[in-house]
Amino acid sequence: MRAPLFIGSEIYRKSTYGSKHPLAIPRVSTVIDLCRAQGWLTPSNYRVSPCAKPSALMAFHTPDYITALQQAERDQAVSDETRQKYALGTLSNPVFPEMYRRPATAAGGSMLGAELIRDKGIVYNPAGGTHHGLANRANGFCYLNDPVLAILTLLNAGLDRIVYIDIDAHHCDGVEAAFHGSTKVRMISVHEAYRWPFSGTLDNDAGGAAFNLPVARNLNDDEFYAILDQLILPATTSFAPQAIVLQCGADAVAEDPLSRLTLSNNAHWHAVTQIRDVAPRLLVLGGGGYNPWSVARLWTGVWATLNRIEIPDVLNPSAQAVLRELTWNRVAGKQPPRHWFETLRDAPNHGEIRSELRNDLKFLAERI
Ligand SMILES: [Zn+2]
Repeated sequence: MRAPLFIGSEIYRKSTYGSKHPLAIPRVSTVIDLCRAQGWLTPSNYRVSPCAKPSALMAFHTPDYITALQQAERDQAVSDETRQKYALGTLSNPVFPEMYRRPATAAGGSMLGAELIRDKGIVYNPAGGTHHGLANRANGFCYLNDPVLAILTLLNAGLDRIVYIDIDAHHCDGVEAAFHGSTKVRMISVHEAYRWPFSGTLDNDAGGAAFNLPVARNLNDDEFYAILDQLILPATTSFAPQAIVLQCGADAVAEDPLSRLTLSNNAHWHAVTQIRDVAPRLLVLGGGGYNPWSVARLWTGVWATLNRIEIPDVLNPSAQAVLRELTWNRVAGKQPPRHWFETLRDAPNHGEIRSELRNDLKFLAERI
């Protein structure tokens, strides 16, 4: 089996959505630095992400939207009409210097990832996972939808059984809209109930293509393992997927400011371990994640897990230095706990499996 490949770019290092935006923080650059410091990333397993050409993006996005996005980057401003029509230049989807090139690079990375696993293999593009993007407008910090573009690339390569698994705290409304009613793509999403974008209710099956599980606040690790065993794994294997695309957003952990879910990062790594060998092709993407320490530690651990590297209890001094250099303009960032600097692994968050979740899992199991 060929070693997993990591797709990255230096465009993410300095780029931010603006100082007041949740994506003011560095994410992918920290993951790259941590993986390099630990000796887990070398020229042989790293690929530079290409910036996707407009024509490639039009496999999903409308030409007028792509033109408007490029124009907004050039002008560094938008008209009222563009703001209304394309949701560009809003608080969520602000104008910033790389507002076309950055998402086009993330999308180029996910499409390259899909091409690299055409025969088989594992690729990790932590800059990907922008699951809210719509064909003709920006949505929820997502200007483009790289998971959709990656899945379309796999379909165009001739595959016809693809499972998309999304464990971000938010529902994957953009991906679901793209593959509503599909018989070739099965979507499985676990997300916090009653949270933006408020779609993905339990009874919504996207024309038979989706399993949606909204979960209550304070989701714990044991509840997540029940979801993995009773929904994610059986719904994946019963589809006999030729490829799996895993959106591994890092915003369902306890310290994330944009959700009320309280997983430890052990949950995500366990999911990666369980999903890793189910299909011959695996593309792992990032997604949400708004605490710079949580995101960096979780996604670095995902890379270690894909490579079957045992995650050390204590990081080496240069990796710790990477984490000590981070800053975060939030109360929780003023005095970060020591384990945010010294370890990747969170303490597990065990708990009881609540009856509401048991019932919802039973409801969905009848459709598997
Ligand atoms: Zn999210």
